[in-house]
Amino acid sequence: MKERCPNMNHSRSNVAIRFCPSCGEVVSNSVQNRGRCDETKHAHRRKERNFFCCDCGKKLR
Ligand SMILES: [Zn+2]
Ligand SMILES: [Zn+2]
Repeated sequence: MKERCPNMNHSRSNVAIRFCPSCGEVVSNSVQNRGRCDETKHAHRRKERNFFCCDCGKKLR
């Protein structure tokens, strides 16, 4: 990791998401993308103030 990201997913050893919702970096390579994301899913994530989708890593704003 080059920069410290405040998101606590980075320090967890057992994460259920592939991408960090704050910085978009991969936090767990073992988690595979579960199907395709649609706009509904991304809109929901956006509402939760995530900057990136934790499934596909797409920037949400
Ligand atoms: Zn992060
Ligand atoms: Zn997505």
